[in-house]
Amino acid sequence: MYVTSKTFKCPADRTTQYNSYESFYIGRFVDADDPTKILLSCPRHHKNTRTVAAYLSYAVDTGKSLPAAWNGIPAEFGEVYPDGELTFADGTTVTIRSRSAGIHSSFVDNAQQIQTTIYTTDGNAGSLLVNHGNDSKFAVVTPAVIADAQNAYLEVVNTVSGEEQGSGILVSSGKVVVEDRRMDAVGTTLTNGQDMPVISVAVLEEGVPSEPSRKSVPRRPAKRR
Ligand SMILES: [Zn+2]
Repeated sequence: MYVTSKTFKCPADRTTQYNSYESFYIGRFVDADDPTKILLSCPRHHKNTRTVAAYLSYAVDTGKSLPAAWNGIPAEFGEVYPDGELTFADGTTVTIRSRSAGIHSSFVDNAQQIQTTIYTTDGNAGSLLVNHGNDSKFAVVTPAVIADAQNAYLEVVNTVSGEEQGSGILVSSGKVVVEDRRMDAVGTTLTNGQDMPVISVAVLEEGVPSEPSRKSVPRRPAKRR
């Protein structure tokens, strides 16, 4: 089904041609182990104070939007920030090293938990140090993986090689569930000291992830070093 950019329009974009939800959609595996995760959110409702979220459980709800900052300056959802430190309402900090990271959403979800999602875009060869020492939900979405932190300290390393965009995950403490976006499968759980070697996806010139090249894809990640 083809949906035009006018079909799903945020009230905030009433008078524009802007495709409201395109940049807020997360292509998660629909049978992921945690149905409380979001697949779409829009943080711009009620004058940017409420976030509408659609969950993998197919519930849709709104919650209070929470503030975030980049180097102490109030940050905006949907914006991409360069080297520096992102801080969030749950106390999580993210150090951006080389290149950039965007803030997708941060809000109180329908289970009264703080749920925050950040992302990196194509062409990004930097790394993110995520210090998530709490029980809130915190996800890092890259073109290759989705990493869900659980009381964790982790590094997300992004690589670019030709038309391949990759991400590797190193976990220093806590637990991280890493979803390989090339396949419909539940994520792999990493704990203290474990890492996930770089997973690469081909990206088109327009920056749209292409179909996975399954012949080179192991069903499970290569064994950990
Ligand atoms: Zn909206």
